[in-house]
Amino acid sequence: MKARPAAGQGAPPKLTPKERRERAQRAPRLAANTLARLAEQHPTAHCELDHRSPFELIVSVVLSAQTTDVAVNKATPALFARFPAAQALAAAEPSDVEPYVSSLGFFRMKAKAIVGLARELVARHGGDVPRTIEELVRLPGVGRKTANVVLGVLWNKPDGVVVDTHVARISRRLGWTKNVDPEKIEKDIGDLLPRDQWSQASHVLIFHGRRCCTARKPDCSSCYVHDTCPSAFDAENVGRKAPRS
Ligand code: SF4
Repeated sequence: MKARPAAGQGAPPKLTPKERRERAQRAPRLAANTLARLAEQHPTAHCELDHRSPFELIVSVVLSAQTTDVAVNKATPALFARFPAAQALAAAEPSDVEPYVSSLGFFRMKAKAIVGLARELVARHGGDVPRTIEELVRLPGVGRKTANVVLGVLWNKPDGVVVDTHVARISRRLGWTKNVDPEKIEKDIGDLLPRDQWSQASHVLIFHGRRCCTARKPDCSSCYVHDTCPSAFDAENVGRKAPRS
């Protein structure tokens, strides 16, 4: 069942505080259904980092810190044409790699990080990307978030939900969590959804965050779950990062 988008005329139907509280109370119970309806809104939700192999994915995820997937996708074709596998990247010096990633923020640090990562992949895993969270987080530059993207996208076996800025914001708006700490949000969402939906949940929420439930101007009128969302039509100040002082 999807919410019928409002006609778009006139003022949006503001909820009363009581209605919001009631929706918030129901939200955890409805989480799986809410996710299914959002998935209907975004049927092509997927990881937007272009990759043709596990090696390309893990490098792209490391490069995507503090920058957009679009920017990473512009840089990686030339990078992977020159360094197509872990062995080639491991044999390079960071200074050889810098020109390929110079369009990205913190490019010197990132060049060093992906060369270090490739060297560890070669030294410990024969150039392959390991398949367990324990092995992945032991690689340099790979934290839980990167590891879970890799495990989820490649094998649908994440150890938790990937919580980026979109997932954090929307899960708060939907009433799935009250936390701001990503690890606590990861746990809250993980408790609400079955494990085999964790990877899809991240992609759907990220798609929704980029295309509909944006930080500044959530488009609640066209959102498929505006009939149950506790923040509907008044979400601008919910789940956003505090402004920098
Ligand atoms: S805040 Fe608005 S756009 Fe975001 S999930 Fe709720 S109804 Fe949808």
